[in-house]
Formats: sequence, C-alpha cells, structure tokens
Amino acid sequence: MTSRVSGPRIFFGIPASPGLVMGRVYVLDRGEVTTPRYHIEAEEVPLQVHRFARARARAQQQLEALRARTAEAEGGSEAAVILDAHVLISQDPDLIRRTEEAIETRLINAEWALRDELEELKAAFSALDDAYFRERGNDLDQVGQRILRVLAGHSEEPMPHFPEGAVVVARDLTPADTARLANMRVAAFVTEVGGRTSHTAILARSLDIPAVVGISSIASALETGDMVIVDGDRGVVILEPEAAAVADFERRSQARRVREESLRVLHALPGRTADGTRVRLHANLELPQEAHLPARFGAEGVGLFRTEFLFLNRDVLPDEEEQYANYVKVIEQSPGPVVIRTLDLGGDKLPVHHPYREPNPALGLRAIRYCLVHPEVFRPQIRAILRAARHGDVRMLLPLISSIEEVRRAKAVIEECRGQLRMEGQQVPDRVPLGVMIETPAACLVADRLAAEADFFSVGTNDLVQYTLAIDRANEHLAHLAQPLHPAVLELLRLTTAAAERAGIECTLCGEAAAEVYYVPALLSVGFRAFSMNPVSIPQVKEILSRLTIEVAEALTLRALQEPTPSQARAHLIEGVRELLPEMLD
Ligand code: PEP
Ligand code: MG
Repeated sequence: MTSRVSGPRIFFGIPASPGLVMGRVYVLDRGEVTTPRYHIEAEEVPLQVHRFARARARAQQQLEALRARTAEAEGGSEAAVILDAHVLISQDPDLIRRTEEAIETRLINAEWALRDELEELKAAFSALDDAYFRERGNDLDQVGQRILRVLAGHSEEPMPHFPEGAVVVARDLTPADTARLANMRVAAFVTEVGGRTSHTAILARSLDIPAVVGISSIASALETGDMVIVDGDRGVVILEPEAAAVADFERRSQARRVREESLRVLHALPGRTADGTRVRLHANLELPQEAHLPARFGAEGVGLFRTEFLFLNRDVLPDEEEQYANYVKVIEQSPGPVVIRTLDLGGDKLPVHHPYREPNPALGLRAIRYCLVHPEVFRPQIRAILRAARHGDVRMLLPLISSIEEVRRAKAVIEECRGQLRMEGQQVPDRVPLGVMIETPAACLVADRLAAEADFFSVGTNDLVQYTLAIDRANEHLAHLAQPLHPAVLELLRLTTAAAERAGIECTLCGEAAAEVYYVPALLSVGFRAFSMNPVSIPQVKEILSRLTIEVAEALTLRALQEPTPSQARAHLIEGVRELLPEMLD
C-alpha cells in the first residue's frame, strides 16, 4: 500500500449495496464525548466558569440554526417545537447554578461538573413515575451532551447536513442514520462496521445508494475533501484514483447503464422460469417515500413493509393516525397485495429513546416480544393496520415468531382492536390474513404447528442465518461465514416449505438471499415459488428465472452442494449462473 502523497490507495471491504460512484469524502465524526476530569486551583475557577458559559452559548447557536433548518423542512414543525425546548434548556438557570457551584466548591473542571450535574438531574427525572418528566430528563441529557461536545472541541453536529453527492465515511451508521442520509441525497457511504444483511446495508440497497462496509480504520484513513471511487459491486474504495482507475470507472458505469436499460424490458413481465413455472416477485419497503418503487420495478405487490423505520430518528413516536396515513400511502401505490409487518424494533433498530440497554440485543426484547410487553405501542399499530385494510388487499405479518403461543397472544390483541374499532363505528374488514415470519430455527422446527395458526409464511433468511449459525448479521468480521447455502440453513428452509405445502399456505422468502441471483437456483430447489426483495433487484431475478428450468436449478444445486464448504458451493452456483447469464455484471 502506497502513502497518501504518492498515489492511489485501494481499500477492500464488503459490498453492501451495488453501484459505482466517484465523489468527495465527508467524514462523519460523531465525536464520542469522553469527559476529562481534573482538579483545578481556586484561581482557575473563573476560567472554568467562562469555558462553561462559552460552550453553552455555542450550543445555543447550534440549536437555533438547527431549529431554523428544521422549521423550513417539510413536516418539521413538531421537531422545531422540541428544539425550542432544547434552546431553553441550554440556558436553564438551575443547570447553570448547579454546575457553577460544583466547579467552585469541588474545584473541578467544567466537563466533570456538568457531567455530574446531568447524571443527578437525569436520575431525579427518571425516578418520577411520569412519562412527561422522563422525556424532560432525556431532553436535558441531549442538550448536556451537546454542551459537552462543544467543550471537547467538536464543532460538528452529531449528524451534520451533507451536500448532495457526498460520499459519507463513518466508523458506523445505524439504520436511523442511513434513513437520514437518504433524505440528504448523499451519493454513497462507506463504514468500518456492518455486514451484508445488517439493516443499514438493506436500507442502502432499497434506497439504491452504493455502499461498502467493513473496511477497518477507513474513517481515520480518509479525510473530508478526498476524492474517491466507491465500488459497491465489488466492495472496493479507491482513494485519489489515477487516470487508469477513472477510465475503468467510466467504462463500468457506462456498462451498468446499458445493463439497466436492457433489464427495463423485463419490468412488465411476470416472474416465470424457462419451463413456465410461475414465481411471484414482491418488493420489500422500509420507508413510505419508497412506495412508488414496487410498480416501477415490476413487483406484483409489497411482500414486506418494515414499518419500524417510521419509528427511528424521532423524539415523538408516530401515533395511530400517522401510521394509518403512511400505510394508506403504500397501499394506494402498490400494484398488488401489501404485507405490513408489525414492529420489529430492537436488535440494531432502536428508536431514539429506547428504554432498554441489553447486553445481547439480537437475543433480547425484539420484534413480537417487545410488542407483546408494550401494548401501548402495539395496539395503535394494529388499529392502524386494520383501518388501512379497507383500502386494499392488506395482510399482517408477525416478526421473529418462535412459538404458537406468541401467535395466539398477538391474535387476541388483533381481535380486541377489531372489536374496539367496530364499537367506535370504524369500518374494518372481517378478515385480514395473518402471516408468521419464519426466522428462527425453532420456528422452522415447529413449522407444521405454526402453519395451523397462520394464513401464510414469510421466511426471513437474514435472521434465520444469524440465529442458525450464531453469526451476528451486523458483524463485519463474520460476514464471510453468513452463508445461506450452509446445509443447516438449507435443511431448515426445506422443512419450512414442506410444512407450508402440507398446510396449503403460501410461503414467501423475503430475506436478502432472494435478491442474489446466484442463490435463485438453490432457493427454487428447496421449494420456494415466491420471493420478496429490494425492488431494484427484481428485474435481474426475473431474468435469471427466465433462463432456468426447475430441473436445471435442481441439478445445479445438487452439484453445488457436493462441494465441501458453503463458500465453494456458492462459487459453483455463481459459475453456473454466469454460464446461463453471460451478460451479468460483477
Ligand atoms: C429477515 O430477517 O430476513 C427479514 C426479512 O427481516 P429483517 O431483515 O427486517 O430482520
Ligand atoms: Mg428479520
């Protein structure tokens, strides 16, 4: 590897979202605040009090600027009210008096004094049995963190506004961050952490933003202003590319455009194999802004609407009305049925004020488990879905089910909400089909029982791979081991499709594996005839289907699985698919 001054550098990571982009880097320095603690002499007290005052004034300016920007943005009025409150808190007399007293009496620096006062005030607020005061405690903490960031010399916002076309480079981005970046129209992003099926990568693919993840130390190796090529197809980032790399970038970008154009003719055609087997192709959605994409890319409907993304990035959670309005928006634009998944909060998708800090969130209070203990969050969503159901063919889907008990408890809540809505005079269809997500090995192993309780199955391979192989889906160090072709995973998939067939219910695969063209033969072989995926990938899956018969898919899979390892099996399938589809790009 050469040094920065002497030429290009190439960084290799995990291709998280396809596409090629050349642009300027913006390093997101979230500036984790560490609080220095030191004792001071009596004569240094005025200096520390002055530092504290200056930091407060700067924080106030930042908040006022943010407030002005937010108030101008569409739908920003609610956030602007919260920012008004934050401006007031930044000059709160009680906080100022207590912090100054601590500096003076305990002879400690401003950061130490402020941190201690914040802790005390926060503890006092959270001890109060009132949601309003607990919220105030959070507001206070956010403002306090902002002042501490200024004291630590961080000039930037936790998530500054990036110009259109920026390549955002960060140590880590949460799904909530990625959703925000989409609104800013950034061109690409690159992170140190993450895997291909992390929710951040999934969102990037849905939003059609090229991304490379899992490049260690990239945030410190690159600087704001550097020119880079981000190759989301191969998982490569080239710093300050030379003429040859730029020429290659241009040639491949052109080839991509030609390929996209040639796939366009497939948009209107149904999914069908070369021997005429119908394969239904639906779209996964995360945000209501994407509602136009299923029709655009030739999906037959929305196979998975991940509703929890509506809950991220906000201080005040969406109420029933707002959820209802968003569902109606998606239903009205969908070319067919819409599967609305109930909240899959928890794991890596945490709302701003998530009350739990779990040591192992993937195995914690996530998805249906969270909803069943939080009826105040679950019920408004169920009511919103039931109300939205009269606008089209709506189906409800329960995530992370591992036993029939969970399905029965959710059904009881649904029936209660239906009864309540009817008493209020609202129109609710008699039947909204209820599906179960199969994404734990336990669910696969009791699939016959679950099939007796459910109207359809939707198989989530992202989580099924994570829970079967004990591999954190967001961990870049293990990403190469997260193999849907692992025999254990394939066996569980076979059990599930067989149980669905016995029960006569539909079984769709909605994990990211559905969008990888070279897995298609294997997924057909284990019995899937319906897939849901990011809308952008639908045309290429239609294309490979049109080149395959079920017999060829089975023969190819059988041969691939004779390879000793899942990676070799994958390589074999890639080779087979390439032979059938020579025009496929990298
Ligand atoms: C899955 O786990 O495969 C799935 C589709 O759900 P999510 O990716 O949202 O967890
Ligand atoms: Mg899942």
